[in-house]
Amino acid sequence: MGVRNGTDSRIHQQIMSTHKEPTEQAPDEDESPIETARYQLERAAEHLDLSEGLLEQLRHPSKTVEVSVPIRRTDGSVEVFNGYRVQHFEVRGPYKGGMRYHPSVSAEECTALAMLMTWKCAVMDLPFGGAKGGIVVDPSELNTQETEQLTRRFAEELREVVGPTKDIPAPDMGTDEQTVAWFMDAYSMQEGETVPGIVTGKPTAVGGTHGREEAPGRSVAIVAREALDYYGRSIAGATVAVQGFGAVGANAARLLDAWGGSVVAVSDVDGGIYDESGLDVASIPTDSDEHGQLEDVDAPRQLSNAELLELDVDILIPAAVGNVLTRDNAADVQASIIVEGANGPTTTAADTVFEERDIPVIPDILANAGGVTASYFEWLQHINRRSWSREEVNDELETEMLDAWDALRAEVEDRGVTWRTAAYIVALSRIGDAMNARGLWP
Ligand code: NAD
Repeated sequence: MGVRNGTDSRIHQQIMSTHKEPTEQAPDEDESPIETARYQLERAAEHLDLSEGLLEQLRHPSKTVEVSVPIRRTDGSVEVFNGYRVQHFEVRGPYKGGMRYHPSVSAEECTALAMLMTWKCAVMDLPFGGAKGGIVVDPSELNTQETEQLTRRFAEELREVVGPTKDIPAPDMGTDEQTVAWFMDAYSMQEGETVPGIVTGKPTAVGGTHGREEAPGRSVAIVAREALDYYGRSIAGATVAVQGFGAVGANAARLLDAWGGSVVAVSDVDGGIYDESGLDVASIPTDSDEHGQLEDVDAPRQLSNAELLELDVDILIPAAVGNVLTRDNAADVQASIIVEGANGPTTTAADTVFEERDIPVIPDILANAGGVTASYFEWLQHINRRSWSREEVNDELETEMLDAWDALRAEVEDRGVTWRTAAYIVALSRIGDAMNARGLWP
């Protein structure tokens, strides 16, 4: 297991080489997550009296772990995969973040995503710091037995750096509740006791929480509702367009529909459907197969993903992939309010255009934070050895989201900043306060 601490790592050099001052020409659709993460940090820091020392710590992960994960394939051959766990900053509590199985996984990508998790947890006032990890693998090329072996060996390789009070992984791209159940089992076997708190996003049979799957979409819907109210619009009849009808987008669309909104357009990877009088989103199935999800749905009009993003609606929810609102289409977006369901759907250049055009963008680190908040509830249920009902989870999520919304709203009103900058200000202030209280060790 290779562990790199602090400033002498390759990650440090990668971060420094991609660092952009806020005043420079902003990058666009090829913008990497690390560029976005660094840019937002510097931008929010301008509003706060944080020490250069703290900022320097926040620019780099506390620890990057790189491991080799060998498995025996079913054809008898041995294959070795690269795995990572990046732990960003733990001043407010143990590290928390997903693990993804994808060919694009790298130390740099994990670093950026771990940073985003630090901000997301702080925005929600959760007692966690950010982490992210994963394995460089195309999971569709492994069978179930090989994926299980890979996961168990990954858990073993990471055993020293993870733990229910150290670092708590969760599912992410290419992984699911079965993956984290195997991870939990492997960890528990080696510890000699059952440790459900080592992961979140588990099946309910082994301590997973009700409402986890729905939570990121629910938080998107809650902040969309609050944003409509804040800008003097009623949710009754408010028009909504949702890009991506998956776990986040479908749940957000169905809730907004149930609360009186009119979801006029939804899409999947192949394109979208539109009905100006509102789609019956409750009856559209969410399919795990991302292709052809909407092709059997009866709707008056088909439209492309590009057209969906430019519809004249009250709320636009990009809930599919990153970097879809760019320098090229930002001027043509006609939505009144944008609520980010996906992680990083708006490039920095597009953000600037929306700011100039007075289109509020409610940022991902608030809007889709229902996922990590439900994970926090799952972790609490493990600590307390008590399971919550779905109603309790939803009620607590509503309370947490409204608290976070109020914190951002205060910054927006006091400082006249965008919702995104307000979110980073809230996060950085809380991290700064924790750092000041704890001081630097030794
Ligand atoms: P998902 O796989 O369940 O659904 C994704 C949807 O987007 C599908 O309908 C798919 O067809 C569509 N899609 C894929 N590529 C597209 C493209 N290029 N253009 C348009 N549509 C496309 O994914 P999800 O879990 O809903 O995640 C969506 C986004 O939300 C991701 O950015 C993810 O990181 C983020 N997110 C997810 C969670 C979670 O717990 N699920 C939590 C926070 C953030």
